[in-house]
Amino acid sequence: MFNKIASIALLTFIALPVFSADVSLTAKQTAEYAAKTYQESMVTSLAELVKYNTLAIDGISANDNPEHIAFKAELKKQALELGFDYTDDGYVIVIGLGESEERLGIITHGDVQPVNPKKWKKSPFELDTVSEPGKLIARGTEDDKGPISTALYAMKAIKDNKIKLNKRIELYVYMAEESDWGPLQTYIKTHTLPQTNITIDAEYPVVTAEKGYGTIKIAFNKNKYTGSDTYLSEFSGGFFGSQIPEDAKAVIENADIALLQQLMNKARSYQGVSFDLELKEKQLTITALGKSAHSSKPQEGINAIPFLADLLSQTRWPSNSAGTLVNFINDNIGLGLEGKKFGSIAYSDEFMGPMTVAPTVIKQLKNNIELNINIRRPRGKSAQQLTEEINHAIATWKLTNMADITELEHYIGNPFI
Ligand SMILES: [Zn+2]
Repeated sequence: MFNKIASIALLTFIALPVFSADVSLTAKQTAEYAAKTYQESMVTSLAELVKYNTLAIDGISANDNPEHIAFKAELKKQALELGFDYTDDGYVIVIGLGESEERLGIITHGDVQPVNPKKWKKSPFELDTVSEPGKLIARGTEDDKGPISTALYAMKAIKDNKIKLNKRIELYVYMAEESDWGPLQTYIKTHTLPQTNITIDAEYPVVTAEKGYGTIKIAFNKNKYTGSDTYLSEFSGGFFGSQIPEDAKAVIENADIALLQQLMNKARSYQGVSFDLELKEKQLTITALGKSAHSSKPQEGINAIPFLADLLSQTRWPSNSAGTLVNFINDNIGLGLEGKKFGSIAYSDEFMGPMTVAPTVIKQLKNNIELNINIRRPRGKSAQQLTEEINHAIATWKLTNMADITELEHYIGNPFI
């Protein structure tokens, strides 16, 4: 049960055997040379890069994180061996080839998303070439260390063939793409970026549009439930804003065998998600296991949070924080991926597809439980209109349910074409 989404390297940047008629003969020959000469070297390079768990650690700068430091040392070694120049600006590494004023930037990142090693056949930090023949499996092979190795050897092929460059090539490796864009924004203020840039951190070969990233945040304030009905004392799940969570957990108090049997029967009716139920005295603990995916493609995963909420939808839960949260998810999100139950926020664009709405992180805070809903939105609505619709939907639900919730500040990014 490893995470396929982030684990299969697509080394197609220069190894792609099909070329469009518009690509020059030089480009075609250089790509063929790279694929023929360096396929193995790229895999070796990647095997070294995936050894480091370059996950962000809360409260520690990437500049002080030992795994990040070791990863950068390996990157430096590889870059210098291949004959490129190497600049370490902390969060941003630049590996350069050529001298022109005009520059071409290749944008990648060296950090990775969290990983649960228990769900992998082999260590996520060891390149596995045997579990699924033909695939390269490790954390970050596709996102985004494979593209770094590929870019290094694309540059090497250009260098070997002494191709005259009218632009200097700069490979950028950012160290906090998955967690914090602040240091990159700071970097851009004091450095001039290349005139032309491509990112190799997506579907291949070309992406022409990207949905806008957003986060809807709501706090479910803590209230003690003191009645004798069954109630939810805990609901948790997810740990990264841009990851569809595969784990979620709920704890029901004042539970009995009848409730356990009822939920077990219902649990069997789902596909793609499994539930584990354990009744101890009067406390029923339920864990859900779905399938993680990148939150830009929620359809490729099974989000454990709404599925667990759906399992618990047979009743209206007493409105302490966890109960209110589950009621909210069932009323406004459900098992759909497009926010169609969430007031009037849903919309779609003919070319870019629908907005997706996925709860990704539930933070357990001192005074409340904070729900973070990741959205990916196409063109067709202004950020202001969408914000107003979100505000309206939450305010309406709050009033109708007399819910003790606080709408926090949402982030609504814009789509790119
Ligand atoms: Zn990425």
